[in-house]
Amino acid sequence: MAAPTTSRRGPGGARNMDDDNLTFETSPGVEVVSTFDQMGIKDDLLRGIYGYGFEKPSAIQQRAVLPIINGRDVIAQAQSGTGKTSMISLTVCQIVDTAVREVQALILSPTRELASQTERVMLAIGDYLNIQVHACIGGKSIGEDIRRLEHGVHVVSGTPGRVCDMIKRRTLRTRAIKLLVLDEADEMLSRGFKDQIYDVYRYLPPELQVVLISATLPHEILEMTSKFMTEPVRILVKRDELTLEGIKQFFVAVEKEEWKFDTLCDLYDTLTITQAVIFCNTKRKVDWLTERMRSNNFTVSAMHGDMPQQERDAIMTEFRSGETRVLITTDVWARGLDVQQVSLVINYDLPNNRELYIHRIGRSGRFGRKGVAINFVRKDDIRILRDIEQYYSTQIDEMPMNVADLI
Ligand code: ADP
Ligand code: MG
Repeated sequence: MAAPTTSRRGPGGARNMDDDNLTFETSPGVEVVSTFDQMGIKDDLLRGIYGYGFEKPSAIQQRAVLPIINGRDVIAQAQSGTGKTSMISLTVCQIVDTAVREVQALILSPTRELASQTERVMLAIGDYLNIQVHACIGGKSIGEDIRRLEHGVHVVSGTPGRVCDMIKRRTLRTRAIKLLVLDEADEMLSRGFKDQIYDVYRYLPPELQVVLISATLPHEILEMTSKFMTEPVRILVKRDELTLEGIKQFFVAVEKEEWKFDTLCDLYDTLTITQAVIFCNTKRKVDWLTERMRSNNFTVSAMHGDMPQQERDAIMTEFRSGETRVLITTDVWARGLDVQQVSLVINYDLPNNRELYIHRIGRSGRFGRKGVAINFVRKDDIRILRDIEQYYSTQIDEMPMNVADLI
């Protein structure tokens, strides 16, 4: 390892000033395998991968698939939309023995929609394997969870709360679980989820393989991984390479909050060129903006975490099919969700932290497609925007008149 030998901690364990600039590098000896054929993947799975439309593995897949299927603990970081979550699906399909009807892999995600998306991708890629996958998520019938789990599934893709509940009821039996994956790992290990994750972890067998995936892995998160991972292989992208090259980022100076609404209305035709996601910082604001857009005769849909799951599902289905084009939402949508047609993201409110920024704008420009992000910036927000710009060494220019041509 080329890690610096000097202590990263000052006296008394305080952080050194330059700690923030520490980049975690890819472990030595990580091979690059440039085709799926060379990865030793089962034939029926290869058929599924090609059938799903993947021809060539992405950079992160070229590096991380092999260590994962070889049973190593892995920490993988690469920018949004580069195939990390898809990689979970394909490696889990490879690892699971479908002749054994027990849960062998557990994938945890921060939102119900992301857990369901992963279930869906896995069922598609694993079509020829007859793999049984169950999305174990809040807001759905507990009875149905019990029925499915007792019938026997190979993989559970879930959210921590419901998974924990099912484990404690002994409906989700953990004895055959050999792999735990945390997608959006930094979110899963942050304050809101950490205790639940450790709670789940306590029930898993000791020789567990652990895989962590995210576009963002702040230092304090990486530091805690030694508690539950064994000699992890690290495959990481440096921070300055993290900004999404294909995504053009702009700002509109709106002076005051009240001006944002008119700005959005002016942009409406641009929003509907393909599909757009508009982020607000609170559920109330989503409701308010949705109401206001509708009463001005604009067609928009909205989703947030206070809606019944059935409604959330219906809105996701409509948006995925392209039936609706403009979605107003909260950070429930910031991470992981993949709708290829989304080419525009609007930050109606600037996000509350740097990580969220990169995740939000990464809803567009999936797998190298074009994307545009537009930030509405009040006078007192300029500092936040400059901070983001600096942190990701990127450039956020004033929105040009011809922004529609870039989509
Ligand atoms: P991430 O988790 O890194 O944000 P996803 O796994 O959600 O990325 O993938 C983003 C998009 O790229 C999805 O639409 C997925 O189907 C597509 N994709 C992933 N891997 C490949 C590949 N090897 N070839 C072609 N498309 C891919
Ligand atoms: Mg993902």
